[in-house]
This record gives sequence, structure tokens and C-alpha cells, in this order.
Amino acid sequence: MPARERASSFSEEHSARNYHPLPVIVTSAQGAWMTDVEGRRYLDLLAGYSALNFGHGHARLIGAAKRQLDRVTLTSRAFHHDRFADFCTQLAELCGMEMVLPMNTGAEAVETAVKTVRKWGYRVKGVAPGKARIIVAADNFHGRTTTIVGFSTDRTARADHGPYTPGFDIVPYGDLTALEAAITEDTVAVLLEPIQGEAGVLVPPTGYLAGVREVTRARGVLFVCDEIQSGLGRTGRTFACEHEDVVPDMYLLGKALGGGVVPVSAVVSSAEVLGVQGPGEHGSTFGGNPLACAVALEVLAMLRSGEHQERAAELGDHLHRELAQLTAGGAVRAVRGRGLWAGVDIDPSHGTGREISERLMDRRVLVKDTHGSTIRLAPPLVISKDDLDWGLQQLRDVLVG
Ligand code: PLP
Repeated sequence: MPARERASSFSEEHSARNYHPLPVIVTSAQGAWMTDVEGRRYLDLLAGYSALNFGHGHARLIGAAKRQLDRVTLTSRAFHHDRFADFCTQLAELCGMEMVLPMNTGAEAVETAVKTVRKWGYRVKGVAPGKARIIVAADNFHGRTTTIVGFSTDRTARADHGPYTPGFDIVPYGDLTALEAAITEDTVAVLLEPIQGEAGVLVPPTGYLAGVREVTRARGVLFVCDEIQSGLGRTGRTFACEHEDVVPDMYLLGKALGGGVVPVSAVVSSAEVLGVQGPGEHGSTFGGNPLACAVALEVLAMLRSGEHQERAAELGDHLHRELAQLTAGGAVRAVRGRGLWAGVDIDPSHGTGREISERLMDRRVLVKDTHGSTIRLAPPLVISKDDLDWGLQQLRDVLVG
């Protein structure tokens, strides 16, 4: 049976159809390359939506995981373990903040943030019980829980999942005036992605994040930055907020924090904000487990060297220069992004994003489409320049022949 048919029958029989994967069955991966069941190698230009910033099977991360597997993997938070304090201290230091609340998935970090800023609103800001409101942006993507899809504007994500959690105000992304106008005395936080990933790698207008910082500070509102996809090196800096010299009140981190090995997410903030959570008021059996902390500690050590951020900045400039040439040629309508991260709007006459992704797959390059004719490029930060150039050549060949 041809690989493509085999891939679809392989995955669809007993699996809920909540994804529409490309028909490739991966059995192993190293660095920026994945190998399928037939032994074919594919260049990974998606990197698990940035969960694999350090590539597949990075020796330091696998080493840290293996060492920890032989010691202790899970205690639950009922007991202390010897990796926890280091993890919290080092992550807080990386963020320039005071406290960490570890969870597992990105959506859990967002849920944790929603609960925490509400509680801060009632206990510290003095908002009347049950009245707290959070401002979010249109076209956001913060995960898939019932509360989160409730404040999404994506019809597919929302449809038939209600009733939805109240307490959110949606404003257009990038519009500081609209955001300022939406703030009331009950507003406890503004929750934003500094670059909207799933929306197609949308970079807000220059000055927007700095403006949000100023307005939220002036109005006594917390600024929560969801850096789950944009953070930890992807844009050429540790945090995408740094491009505007902005430090929010709270970072939400996930994906690359687990090194592509285990799910690790975290809420990082001040003692004033995270200090509102007491025993029994929030938690997770797996959040902050020894294996997660061991891998994340290695991730933090790798980020401290700055090497991956520098690489993302350098190779990112190269990527955007190359993509600009495709735009000049007409095959591509627009390119957005920062560092090793790009949303590429293909001229629809060349096919849908899905069709382009499939044609790239036939050429052994893996990407993912979003919103019709857009494809996202987010290679592992460890990709070599030659491999990146080869991948871009495949894109050029697919688009301009
Ligand atoms: N926030 C952002 C910005 C994301 O991109 C994602 C996932 O793509 C999430 C939150 C949700 O993360 P998870 O899928 O780990 O729940």
C-alpha cells in the first residue's frame, strides 16, 4: 500500500479526528530531521510548534532525562523533591521575576493565569466578588480548554463547546486605542501573545507591546504575556517581549521549556501576584515533577548561554531575506515573523496551505498550514544553514517550479 494511504488508515481507525495530520508516519528523529517507517528522511520545519526549539533528541536534554529516570520521576507535590527549588529559582531568574507555578501543558498555564489574576483582582486590587474581567485579543490562540475556547474568535475551536466562561473582553490585536477603551475598574489583566502564532505569525505594530505595558501599568491592570510559542529563543531573544524592551507582569511558558521531551509549562510572576495562591487552591499531580524539572533545568542552562537565541537571530535574518525574494517574485503575498519563525501567505493561485504542505512533504520537507493559504515555518533553532537553504529551495521549487 502506498505510504500516503497507509498513513491515513494507520492513524484514523481508532483515533478521534481532532487533527488532520500530514500522511507521514515518523519512527525516529535527530536534530532537524525525522525518519519515516519507510526510512525516508524529512526536514522538520515545524519543530512541534516550537516545542522542539533545540531539535529532536538533543544529547544534553536526553542525557538529563535519562539520568533523572534512574533516580526519581514523580513524587506529586505532596512531598518535596530535590530538583524543584532549583527549577523554580532558575526559571524565575531567567524571567527576572520572583515566583514560579509549574504545570504541564500550555493550556494549563493559561488556565492557571486566569485563576490567579482573578484572585489577585479580588484580594489585592479590590474588585467586587465575581466581577473580574480579562481583556484578550481577537484571533488569539491560548489553547483548547472550555474557558480558553470561550474567549477565542476561531469558530472551529469554539463551535458547540459552550456554555462558555464569562468575564472576557475581546479587542482587535494591535489596536492600543481599543484596548485602552476596553479597560474598566473591573479589568484585572490583559492577556496577549506578543506575536500571534496560530493566527499566522502576526507581529503587532511597532510600539504596541510597549504601549500596552504603559497603559496597563497606569491603570493598575496586570499585563500577562503568553510566550508559550514565541518564547525561549524562537524570535532571536529569550522572550519576544524583549524586542520592545517590555517586561510584563506575568510570563506564560510551555512548549520548549520541556525540551521536546516532556510537557512542562509554567506561570512566572511576582510574589504579589503568584503569592495569592495558597495550598489546595490550585495544582496538578504532574506539574513540577522531578523528570520535568530535570529536563527544564537543562533547557534553562542552554538558554543562559545565549547561543540558541543568537543562532535564531542570525539564521532568522537569513530566512527572512530569502523569503522576501519569494515575495518579490509574486508567489508569496506576504511574510511575517521574527527570528526563525515565519508566516508565509502563499498566493492562492499556487494552492491552499494544505496543498503546499503536501507538495513539500513529497519533497521531504515538513511544514504546517494555517488559515487557508498560510504556511508556518518554525525550524528547530539547531538547524544548519545548509539544511535551511535546502528546505527553502524546496519551497521555491514548489511555488515557482
Ligand atoms: N498558548 C500559545 C501561544 C500556543 O501557541 C499554544 C499552543 O499552540 C498554547 C497556548 C497551548 O499549549 P498546549 O497545546 O501545550 O496546551
